[in-house]
Amino acid sequence: MSIKQNLEELRASIGTGCTLIAVSKTQPTEKIMEAYAAGQRVFGENRAQELAAKYEALPKDIEWHMIGHLQRNKIRYIAPFVALIHSVDSDRLLEEINRQAAKVDRTISCLLQVHIAEEETKFGFSPEEIHALMESPLWAAMTNVQVVGLMGMATFTDDVAQVRREFHLLRSLFNQLKTRELPQQARMEVLSMGMSGDYKLAIEEGSNMIRVGTAIFGDRLTAKK
Ligand SMILES: *Cc1c(COP(=O)(O)O)cnc(C)c1O
Repeated sequence: MSIKQNLEELRASIGTGCTLIAVSKTQPTEKIMEAYAAGQRVFGENRAQELAAKYEALPKDIEWHMIGHLQRNKIRYIAPFVALIHSVDSDRLLEEINRQAAKVDRTISCLLQVHIAEEETKFGFSPEEIHALMESPLWAAMTNVQVVGLMGMATFTDDVAQVRREFHLLRSLFNQLKTRELPQQARMEVLSMGMSGDYKLAIEEGSNMIRVGTAIFGDRLTAKK
């Protein structure tokens, strides 16, 4: 199957209420241009320098999303152009994104990454930490970030019930936050959950943004995750 066919199938199966992020990490620019030629304009990467290099090399109407763990000293590479950072996993990272966004005179949209997987290895806030963050005094200084929703990754497992439970947890938190008073710089619009192996389940559980790599581009060449 070609990249174009994969994209067409995906778009047909996800419907119009869900945004498809094509995860192009490790993929060469030719493959990204194949997806671009098939109409895809939103791409996601998980490394700041790779993201910046691809931004430089590729058409400027592409919307670039940062989906992977972001170190504070790498924000400056992407601050001038990034459309959405999905992976804000600490107060300190949010504060530094604010600082770097101010330097380039932008407001950067962010998602708070929530740890929903029962396994230990993933980054993110706990639901309790998200509630605490919403009450934190740090918002007073947040002039250049806008939180627009939540992101989560389910456990990598064949256990459908477990994956569904984890997505359900994130959806519940999202709904709870929608009903409570939030800081001016935070609102709940985007729920980013679902990847190649579990996006159908994620959409059933309320996702409106999925991040799909291998189901579009095929296997990645390296072992990078
Ligand atoms: C790599 C990655 C994806 C896409 O994974 P696939 O299984 O290739 O669809 C989605 N989200 C994040 C955070 C990733 O790092």
